Amino acid sequence: MLPPECETALQQLDAFRRGELAAEEMASMRGHLEACRRCLAFKQHEEAFLDRLLTAAQSCTCPDELRTTIYQMIAKESRDN
Ligand SMILES: [Zn+2]
Repeated sequence: MLPPECETALQQLDAFRRGELAAEEMASMRGHLEACRRCLAFKQHEEAFLDRLLTAAQSCTCPDELRTTIYQMIAKESRDN
């Protein structure tokens, strides 16, 4: 079981990252992350994951071959129906 302040912190993490929380919530979040290793570790882990995802998405252009396959699948679907 997480302490209630950690549950709140983790629930608000996304909004915090996007800067969508009210000023005092942003401040208490920052305070909590400084004080709580568990939530800080979670946040850093998540950010590392998002970073990797973003890097992967940027370097991955859909290959022509795959696009063709998808088009063929769609064409086949609509033929079969
Ligand atoms: Zn915490």
